[in-house]
Amino acid sequence: MALENACTPNGSIPLSLWAGSKFPKAKSLLPTTVSLLQNWKQTTPLFLQNNDLLLAAPLQALAARTSDIQLDNWLKQGISQVRSLLTPDGIKPFPDLIREYRISLRELFSYLRIKNIIQECGISLREPNLLPPFIHKCMGKLPKTKALSLCYNTLLLQNKLTKPSYMSKWESELGKHFPIEMWHHAQKLTKQASHSLNQWETFCKLTMRWYLVPTKLAHIYPGSDNRCWGCHNCEGSLYHIFWTCTHITTLWRDIHALLHKILGVKVPQTPECFLLHIFPDTLPEETIFFTIHCLMATKTAIAHRWKSPLTPTLPEILGRLDSTHAYERMASRLTSSQSRYKTRWKSWVDYRKGEPHQGL
Ligand SMILES: [Zn+2]
Repeated sequence: MALENACTPNGSIPLSLWAGSKFPKAKSLLPTTVSLLQNWKQTTPLFLQNNDLLLAAPLQALAARTSDIQLDNWLKQGISQVRSLLTPDGIKPFPDLIREYRISLRELFSYLRIKNIIQECGISLREPNLLPPFIHKCMGKLPKTKALSLCYNTLLLQNKLTKPSYMSKWESELGKHFPIEMWHHAQKLTKQASHSLNQWETFCKLTMRWYLVPTKLAHIYPGSDNRCWGCHNCEGSLYHIFWTCTHITTLWRDIHALLHKILGVKVPQTPECFLLHIFPDTLPEETIFFTIHCLMATKTAIAHRWKSPLTPTLPEILGRLDSTHAYERMASRLTSSQSRYKTRWKSWVDYRKGEPHQGL
């Protein structure tokens, strides 16, 4: 990058690193440099903890965010960092800068442009101990922590802090703990399984506990019946409606048997597998995607019978899988991914050819 920067007008590559979201497109750069710059753009927000990198930037970085600013006179007067222009309330008033740095009155236009950029970013001077270590590192401080350790520490800290509450609620209901990586892997697999945004949305609704189940409705409307509308016996929590209700357990048992018959493997009949798609590592990957389609068809059918005591039937699930199959076949043609489609749906096609009208 240093060699390429030497050939770039004004040596602007390092300055563009400070450009934040207004990262410039550089068509003339080598692909490796573009890739490095994109990596920088994508990963720095993880380390900034809602701060703007401009806090640690040299003054010239402002020029990377706009094309109509001249900073030579400001640099000559000894203002080398953006932080020098800031107070806890925002940018310093122009008369204060004239007094402090002997800035010329003719720099008023530049001052207004600088003010505009800083206001757009919403940054202000912060107490040094409130700034994340990454910003300190960018300012050339904190020499004892090496950059790689700093990145790992920050990422580990964020994982601890940012586990969403819906994950904790599921873990508390199931009495199990899943590392956040397992949650993310389950989400990734579900996204990869289908072209259908509807399927992804249904998965999110369940995992993020969006459904208005009887217990939630009773909380919103005190006095309303909080019992399950299937068995009329137990509290109608999300976990009960989708998993422990006696009306649903039979259906899940049938789905488990169906998966075994189609795929030839036994998917563990546990709520983390069937509801959250957190599968054991031992499950062959080629079977996971069809399993997800089958589970999503079942969960969509349960949601379709919302507030009804009737339970979805196995033929209904098979019909939904037929529709999903037809949709995925069409989508694979549009996206030129027929070979992937054939691998994922082969077991289902064979099963339907063998027993087109009989179900199990
Ligand atoms: Zn029930």
